[in-house]
Order: sequence, then C-alpha cells, then structure tokens
Amino acid sequence: MSHLALQQQSSWQEVLASTITDTAELCRLLDLDLACLPEGHPMLQQFPLRVPTPYLGRMEKGNPFDPLLMQVFPAHAESLEHPGYSADPLQESAANPKPGILHKYEGRALLLVTSSCAIHCRYCFRRHFPYQDNLPGKQHWQESLAYLAEDKSISEVIFSGGDPLSLPDKYLDWFFEELAKIPHIHRIRLHTRLPIMIPQRITSALCQLLANPRFQTILVLHSNHAQEFDQEVDRACESLRKAGIVLLNQSVLLKGINDSCEALKALSERLFQAGILPYYLHLLDRVSGAAHFEVSEEKARALVAALQKSLSGYLVPKLVRENPGESSKTPIG
Ligand SMILES: *Cc1c(COP(=O)(O)O)cnc(C)c1O
Ligand code: SF4
Repeated sequence: MSHLALQQQSSWQEVLASTITDTAELCRLLDLDLACLPEGHPMLQQFPLRVPTPYLGRMEKGNPFDPLLMQVFPAHAESLEHPGYSADPLQESAANPKPGILHKYEGRALLLVTSSCAIHCRYCFRRHFPYQDNLPGKQHWQESLAYLAEDKSISEVIFSGGDPLSLPDKYLDWFFEELAKIPHIHRIRLHTRLPIMIPQRITSALCQLLANPRFQTILVLHSNHAQEFDQEVDRACESLRKAGIVLLNQSVLLKGINDSCEALKALSERLFQAGILPYYLHLLDRVSGAAHFEVSEEKARALVAALQKSLSGYLVPKLVRENPGESSKTPIG
C-alpha cells in the first residue's frame, strides 16, 4: 500500500485525509470479497464507513474475521431490528443540562467537544446521538462553561464526543485556557481512540498542551485487541507518558473480536507493555444495529473470573455496564 509507506513523513491531518470511506476499496486493499450493506443504505448514510490507514495497515490481509476489520465493517446484520435495542440506549438526552454537556455522575462533567471520529466503530453507542443539536459554537460554549463554573462539586472535566483529539490543537488549547479559569477544576480527562488509530496525532506540540501544569491530565484510550498496537502506537504512548499524562484504557467486550480469555489476556499485557493500565471492560450498550456484537453477562463474568486467575490484579479491567439513570457505571461480577 503506497500511502502507508508515505505515512512516516505525513502530518496527522494528511493521514486523516487518507481515511478509507469506501467499502469496495477496503475490500480491495485487504484482498477480500465481502458482502456488505449496499451503497446508499440508510445505515451507511447515517454512520458511514471510516477506517484510518494506519489501523488498516494492522489488519491481516485475506482474513474476513480479522478482529480489527470486524470493528469497522458495516455488516448486513446491522440492519436487523432487535427488541431491547434502541437509538438512545443510555437515555442521555435526559442528562443534557446545557448544549454539549452530559452531567450524570457526581464530580465529573462530560463535554461533547466534537462529533467527529477518525474511525467509525460499528458498535458505537453514539452512532445515533443528535450531535447537531449538541455542538455549540464558541459563544454557546460560554453558557456551558458558566454551568461548570457555578457547580463547585465538579472537579474533573471529561472531553468526549466523537473523539476530542480529532480537534485541531487550537480548539483544545481554547478549552484548556477557559477551564483553567475555573478554580475547582483540577483534572482533565480525554476519552480518545486517536493515539491508536493515528499515532501521528501525538505530536510534541500536543504533548506540551496536554501537560499543562494547571491540571492533572488523563487519557483514557480505547483499544479492544492486542493487534491494534505496533511500534508507532508504542512511541505515541511513550511521548504521552514522558509528558506526565496518565494512560488508561477502556475496551468493549465484543463477540467474535475479544470474547475469549486469550484475547483479553493478550490485550491487558500489550496495554501494559505500552505503559497503559486497563480500566474498564464495558458490556455492549444496546444500540440499534449492534446486537450481533453482544456477549452475554454470564459469559462476561466467566471471562473476567478466568482473567483474574491468570493475570496480575492490576491487569484485570473492571467489568461494567452503563445503565440509564444510575449514579455510576454498574459493576458486574
Ligand atoms: C462514563 C461516564 C463518566 C465517567 O465515569 P467514570 O466511572 O469516572 O470513568 C462521566 N460522565 C458520563 C456521562 C459518563 O458516561
Ligand atoms: S472512536 Fe469512540 S466515539 Fe468514535 S465511533 Fe469509535 S467508539 Fe464511537
């Protein structure tokens, strides 16, 4: 793949611009002949294919069951309706006090800073979120920032989306500057897949920005499989750690992708090798179009029990489910 060879010199924006959005091209690049949702299918219009080229480069050619491919491939199964699966499974619309803010848990407020992601994960619970109503412009952000300033119980702000690192540095910098004016905010956390999808995103300028001494900064990465790592990702994580950023990881338990003790064990060990601690293992949110990824609670419990036996305690993620209306993620176990 010629564009992969060029990545060494490319900026992250250039790498982002080379993202694969066409299923036929994806199949061609991977030597696969797969039946996917027909072009123009409503599911694809709402949530199109999006695969960054560095991630694609880690997929095994000719393998339709590649665990990375399965996370992004728009399968026919997505168009099947399932009882209990809905467009807003977490009922987030109810915890949306101001545009762009979700405030469900004590002490923490989540900012939806962008709707874009470098990758489209087919199981994503945000695939139906009404982002258009929730992406305030700068003057509207003032209203949301005023909300944070008023509520002294909020000590941590979580940047989410979408993927916050898909924003240019100048926007992130603006948020950091504005939040620095609110004395009771001590920690900034970013939930992001970008260091794994496009490791070039972790520039020294970004590390400097995140290392703002006014805050403790935490990056919660999202990796589901050991194969998502390579030397470039390791280098990106090393730069972040050297800048003093705490690195954690959350995964989603996905049928056919990481629902085995071997896969989860390999993931935890690979994370730690990159200097990242496992944080959460999420049970799938019941969002329409994702039922084919579901692993039962019973199987999930058995998997984590097996992990507990074969790994150091700090390498075992917490198994959780997000239930609407509860004051934290719900531990399963
Ligand atoms: C998951 C989540 C958080 C963070 O929860 P932690 O248990 O602290 O990781 C905060 N706000 C919202 C809305 C969330 O969904
Ligand atoms: S990167 Fe995160 S928010 Fe974006 S599609 Fe994947 S799971 Fe969803």
